[in-house]
Amino acid sequence: MKIVVSDPLSPEGLSILREAGHEVVELAGAPPEQVRAALADADALLVRSATKVTAELLAGAERLRVIGRAGAGVDNVDLAAATRRGIVVMNTPGANTIAACELTMAMMLALARRLPQLSGRVKAGEWPKKGAMGTELQGKQLGIIGLGRIGSEVARRALAFGMEVAAYDPFVSAERAQALEVRLTTLDDLLATSDVLTIHAPQAPETKRLLGTAAFAKMKKGVLLINCARGSLIDEAALADALRSGQVAGAALDVFEKEPPLPDCPLLAFDQVIATPHVGATTAEAQATVAIEIARQVAAYLKGEPPRNAVNAPCIEPELLEVLGPYIDLSERLGSLLVQLAEGGISRLTITYRGEINQHDLRPLTAALLKGLLQRAIPTVNHVNAPVIAAERGLKVDVTKSAAVEDFANLIAADARVGQRTLAVAGSMLARHTPRIVRVDNYRVDAAPEGHLLVTRNHDRPGVIAHVSAVLARRGINIADMTCGRDHPGGTSMLVISIDSPVTPEIVREIEASPLILRAQLVSL
Ligand code: NAD
Repeated sequence: MKIVVSDPLSPEGLSILREAGHEVVELAGAPPEQVRAALADADALLVRSATKVTAELLAGAERLRVIGRAGAGVDNVDLAAATRRGIVVMNTPGANTIAACELTMAMMLALARRLPQLSGRVKAGEWPKKGAMGTELQGKQLGIIGLGRIGSEVARRALAFGMEVAAYDPFVSAERAQALEVRLTTLDDLLATSDVLTIHAPQAPETKRLLGTAAFAKMKKGVLLINCARGSLIDEAALADALRSGQVAGAALDVFEKEPPLPDCPLLAFDQVIATPHVGATTAEAQATVAIEIARQVAAYLKGEPPRNAVNAPCIEPELLEVLGPYIDLSERLGSLLVQLAEGGISRLTITYRGEINQHDLRPLTAALLKGLLQRAIPTVNHVNAPVIAAERGLKVDVTKSAAVEDFANLIAADARVGQRTLAVAGSMLARHTPRIVRVDNYRVDAAPEGHLLVTRNHDRPGVIAHVSAVLARRGINIADMTCGRDHPGGTSMLVISIDSPVTPEIVREIEASPLILRAQLVSL
C-alpha cells in the first residue's frame, strides 16, 4: 500500500513500513499541493506536528484510511474532517514518557546543585566555591502533582534516590499509589510538606494556573519547583513574586505560558531559574520510539487489526448507532456522575447491563462510561482510547450482561470501588429515548442525567426538604426537579435536586450545616 510521510520521521519507523511491503513516499518539507496530490491514491498518511492536516488537504484522498501522528498532540489534524471521511487518526501518547521523566530528574539535580549557574560562572573565568552550597535530595520529600505516566516514572526514580515521595492526584486510586510506594495526599498537604515539587498534570480548564499566589503561599519556604508539563499550569507572575521573596528557592521550567517566552517574561531574569525550550520529548530515543510505534500501529491497522491509540470516533454502523446512540450518551453521563460522587480514585468498576440492550455489542457503551469516568482526569480521553487509558491506569473493569430484568426494560448499572467504599449508580432509558438516573447506591431515584444536580444524603426525618429548599431559595437558586429515595422509614434518605445554576462550595456547606444532612454534593453533567 502507499504511505505518504509528510514530516521528518526517524528511519527506524520508515524501515518497518518498507519491510511490511508498503511503498513509502517521503515528502517532508514539500508544499501542501504536492502532499495533496500524493494523497490522491494513498492508503495512509504519517505526520509529526508540522503538516497541517486540513479538510482541504484530505479533499481528494479517496483511498486514505489512516493518519498516524508520531507524537501525542493532534492539534494539527482536523479530526472532524478525518472522521467524516471515515479515516482513523492515531497517535503515540506514551512514547515520550521516559524522555520527559528523565528531563524532570535532570532538572531536580540541576536545581539542587545549581549546575547551570556554576557552570556558567566557571566558564566566565570565576571559581565560585562560595555560594556553591547545594542541597541533597536523599531524605527530602518530592511532591508530585499528577501521578500519571510521567509522574509515576518520576516517583520510581526519586525513590531510588532515597527521597520520600508524595503525590496529589484526585483521580488516582489509593491502591495504585500504594503499589508505587507513593503517599497520596491532598494538594494543600503536598504544598505544605514538599521540599521539591514537580507538576505532571494535563492542560485543562481545571488545571489552569493551578499554582498561583494562594498555592505559593502554602508551600514550604525554600521549595524547589519543576514544570516539565505545560506552561498554563503555573501563574508566572505569582511564581516571579515567590522567587523574589525566597518562598521558592529555585525553579526549573521546560514550558511557558507563551512559547517562546516574551523577552520581558519576568522569570528569565532570575539567576535561580533554569529554563529549557520545551525539550521534554526531545531525545533521540523518544523520536525513534514515536516513529517505530506509529509505523507499527499504522502497519497493523492496514493489515486489518483493530486500531490502537485511535483518537477519533470508531465507526459504528449507522443502524446500530440509531439504537445505541442514546444509551452511549446515558453511559457517559453515568460515568461522569459516578466519578463526581466518588470524590476519589476509583480502583475497580463493575458494569452490569440488563434487559433488551443485551442483544447488541455493548462495547461502545462501556467505552462511553469509561470516557465519562476519566475525562476530568484525562481531558484527551475519547470513546476510542478510554478502555486503553483505563487499563493503563490500573482501573479494573468487569462487565457482565444479565438477562434478569429488574423493574426496567433495560438498565445500565455501574459500581465503583473507592478505597474501602463502594459507590453505585444505575440508569435506564424510558420510552421515547428519555434517559433517567434510577438508582444511586441503595436509593431509588428518578432524575434526568443533565445539568446541575444537588445530591444530598440525609436522615429520613421531617424537615430535610424544607431546609434544603430554604437554603436554595435564600441564595436565589431555582429548583427544576426533585426526587427522593430512602433505604427504610426512619433510616437514611437521598435527595437528587435538579437546579438551574450550580451551587458554590459555601452553599454546600450551608446545606450540610443542618444535623439532618449527612452529606451534600454538586454534580454537573
Ligand atoms: P497522563 O495523562 O498519563 O497523566 C496526567 C495525570 O494528571 C493523570 O494521572 C491525571 O489523573 C492527573 N490529573 C488530572 N487533573 C489533575 C488535577 N487537577 N490535579 C492533579 N492531577 C491531575 O499524562 P502524562 O503523559 O504523564 O503527561 C503529563 C504532562 O506532561 C502533560 O501536561 C503533558 O502535556 C506533559 N508533557 C510535556 C512534555 C514536554 O515536552 N515538556 C512531554 C510529554 C508530556
